[in-house]
Amino acid sequence: MKMQTKAHYKSEIPEKKKEAHRRTNLRRGSLIPAVPRFGGNNGHDNHDATGIKAYAAQSAAASLGPFAIRRREVGSLDVQIEILYCGVCHSDLHMVRNEWEQTVYPCVPGHEIVGRVTKVGRGVKKFKEGDLAGVGCIVDSCRTCSSCQSGLEQYCEHDPVQTYNSKDTHLGGVNYGGYSKSIVVDEAFVLRVSDKLNLAAVAPLLCAGITTYSPLRHWKLGEGKKVGIVGLGGLGHMAVKFARSFGAHVVLFTTSPEKGADAIRLGAHEVVVSKDQVQMNQHLNSFDFILDAVSAEHDINAYLNLLKVDGTLTLVGLPQKPLGIAAFNLIGHRRQFAGSMIGGIAETQEMLDYCADHGIVSDVELISMDHVNEAYEQMLKGQVKYRFVIDMESL
Ligand SMILES: [Zn+2]
Ligand SMILES: [Zn+2]
Repeated sequence: MKMQTKAHYKSEIPEKKKEAHRRTNLRRGSLIPAVPRFGGNNGHDNHDATGIKAYAAQSAAASLGPFAIRRREVGSLDVQIEILYCGVCHSDLHMVRNEWEQTVYPCVPGHEIVGRVTKVGRGVKKFKEGDLAGVGCIVDSCRTCSSCQSGLEQYCEHDPVQTYNSKDTHLGGVNYGGYSKSIVVDEAFVLRVSDKLNLAAVAPLLCAGITTYSPLRHWKLGEGKKVGIVGLGGLGHMAVKFARSFGAHVVLFTTSPEKGADAIRLGAHEVVVSKDQVQMNQHLNSFDFILDAVSAEHDINAYLNLLKVDGTLTLVGLPQKPLGIAAFNLIGHRRQFAGSMIGGIAETQEMLDYCADHGIVSDVELISMDHVNEAYEQMLKGQVKYRFVIDMESL
């Protein structure tokens, strides 16, 4: 039934139009796969004045404010979750302000969700009422393409269904994210969450955590490897923790010398101020791997030059403009330049289990729901250590 709905939805989008959107989004360097436009405001289907409390932006220029939404009835494979905490990801801000020009309003963001299961469908096997549960950036995918079959749902060839601002394949309209009291998700896309860790600090693992864990695992970084992390923000601070935990020698690159002490506290062995050419030159041709978590404009060549033969530089940040790469910096040492986006469902579960076993969480600042607009402004100024998390009890 579900797949039929989905197939129908897919067939509604002319391939040409879809491709145009895809190209537009590629040009903008968007993390978020192309989303069909629904023609302006299309959220009313899921608006319900007496419904579930949420926070939404009504336009690109508007602040987030109270809004009531509808969630679908719990189907046989669905899990209903009372949201306890939701992390504030930088992409929430991009989406709310329509910076990727694909936002449908009203927009309820949030894809770092941790909560408690309040109801399960008859066919649900993984969860029961009362369990802790998490939801990350995607809530469905085609499940049949080669990516989905390989556990790489984030690279679904038919575009995964994102947690918000994707077409709601059940109710119509656009779907709503975690800045709300509850959510209903197919159990295949719900993660088990351990009660060993601070739940608020677990929430950012669902995006910032898996985004950094996945490439560090894919490129098999551990003991004996020298790993660079560029940027100490929401992503970078998790990358430092994981790389250190995997046994690598970790070097943090930052433009702000004052971040050095904190980087060491988080697990870095060394800190390099990237504006200091002398410091940079000391690391020429020495890295096995560099994870670049910076979205601001910066010179990628300065980091490519630090890779040794066969070294890899992987982007997880999202600079808006295309990057200029000097060919010699790649061919000279057979270096590789790559990208990575979140992680599949099985790998996200593996990451959460690893964090529970090793006591790894995000460094967070807990905020109330009505503080979120201020939090966005603080994020833009880099004034967060290192992730804001909304306490949904305040909603
Ligand atoms: Zn995110
Ligand atoms: Zn797929």
